[in-house]
Amino acid sequence: MTQTEQQTREEMTHLCRSLFTRGFSVGTAGNVSVQVEDGLLMSPTNTRLNELEPDRIAKIDHDGQHISGDKPSKEQFLHQAFYQTRASCGAVVHLHSTWATALSCASDTDPEDCIPAITPYVVMRVGRVKMVPYVKPGDKRAGELIHQLNGQCAAVLLANHGPVVSGRDLRSAVNAAEELEETAKLVMALKDRPVRHLTADQLEELNVTFGAP
Ligand code: ZN
Repeated sequence: MTQTEQQTREEMTHLCRSLFTRGFSVGTAGNVSVQVEDGLLMSPTNTRLNELEPDRIAKIDHDGQHISGDKPSKEQFLHQAFYQTRASCGAVVHLHSTWATALSCASDTDPEDCIPAITPYVVMRVGRVKMVPYVKPGDKRAGELIHQLNGQCAAVLLANHGPVVSGRDLRSAVNAAEELEETAKLVMALKDRPVRHLTADQLEELNVTFGAP
């Protein structure tokens, strides 16, 4: 059964509160969007993710024009870049979550493959994560840089900023953002230890069994 827009607004409020309560977002950092029939619902600017109100969530049309609700997040162009380049994208979660942001600041993070394949779950839910070069907050070039990836990645790390994660619906985008954060934490925890990575055959088996995220 397809969700009504009201149900989507309530689900967004609930999941954003859950992300905030569990420390994935602090202050007014982070923003979330989900596609609805005639546009996008987006968390409003300068709003804590635990304080969304279903009826005040910002709504923008497919061209990014504000239609209703509070003013949308200033980072909406990060979200639009995913909707415009990934046909399967139904929701986007952008966080400044601690461990993924730490990886985005570490100078030895591989920009072509930020999250090594250390568990099957990150491979299944997130896939390959590339780094988007640093630009100052609010600089729309970050959207253009995501565009340049041509939709190859379901998630990126913005250098010295944090993750942007997409999914086919809101729940899968939130799950993927949480998986990315927890894996970044494992990567940092294992920093000084030799690590057994999944092999090419194991990755292929996951791809064949579960498909790409
Ligand atoms: Zn941000």
